[in-house]
Amino acid sequence: MTVMAQTKAEIGVIGGSGFYSFLEDVTEVTVDTPYGTPSDSLFLGEVAGRSVAFLPRHGRDHRVPPHRINYRANLWALRSVGVRQVLGPCATGGLRAEYGPGTLVVPDQIVDRTLTRKQTFFDGVTREDGVTPNVVHTTFADPYCPVGRGVAMKAARDHEWEPVDGGTMVVIEGPRFSTRAESRWHAAAGWSVVGMTGHPEAVLARELGLCYTSIALVTDLDAGTETGEGVSHTEVMRVFGENIDRLRSVLFDAVAGLPGAEDRDCLCTHVHDGWDLGIELP
Ligand SMILES: [Zn+2]
Repeated sequence: MTVMAQTKAEIGVIGGSGFYSFLEDVTEVTVDTPYGTPSDSLFLGEVAGRSVAFLPRHGRDHRVPPHRINYRANLWALRSVGVRQVLGPCATGGLRAEYGPGTLVVPDQIVDRTLTRKQTFFDGVTREDGVTPNVVHTTFADPYCPVGRGVAMKAARDHEWEPVDGGTMVVIEGPRFSTRAESRWHAAAGWSVVGMTGHPEAVLARELGLCYTSIALVTDLDAGTETGEGVSHTEVMRVFGENIDRLRSVLFDAVAGLPGAEDRDCLCTHVHDGWDLGIELP
């Protein structure tokens, strides 16, 4: 029997720590990009009649730490199979006592405290394939897709999981967790959650004209907020494991609720109107 293998997908899901598979019946697709190799293959499947590409952000066996993820290759690979809207679930630390483990935050702002990551496609540097992108300054005042945020929050509410609507995710370089002083500083600044991968994932998605929605599961109170020995990876993975089934259900509903590709009319789709990018987007 010959079955036509799926080669395209309209929606991307990038799974974080503890989230290494999404769909059961998948076609594994290997994608190479002008920016190198993604964290893993793309796993293509269907949810509620929508085609989805899942990518485990750290690789399926968690071999890629946050600071060594090839974010550019990941986003480029997703776009090259047809993805135009991306959901980015991630494990985060809560910076407020009321954001305990199991809290779901749909942030609306980012603060970048990373140090070493390539965070643009448009740096004017000639690629290995001889193509040189132009220098482009991308509008990023509102880093997340407003439509995707609304869809994600509705999906959570439909599962009786009231999400935190908005808030700032501060993204640290990692792979270590924050000191208490750093954590107190982040909390005093009024930020909500701390993670290690939200940047540059969101800005690279925006540069490619993709809708990107961050869905932050709080797995621990960050060091400045808790009073024990500090954040441990074991605890992060335990809490993530406890919440993975309902998070997956929320993501399924969010996928189903996203607009069709031809119906997108959010700011993400217009970000480079008037710019000559110098490169062809896949
Ligand atoms: Zn959008």
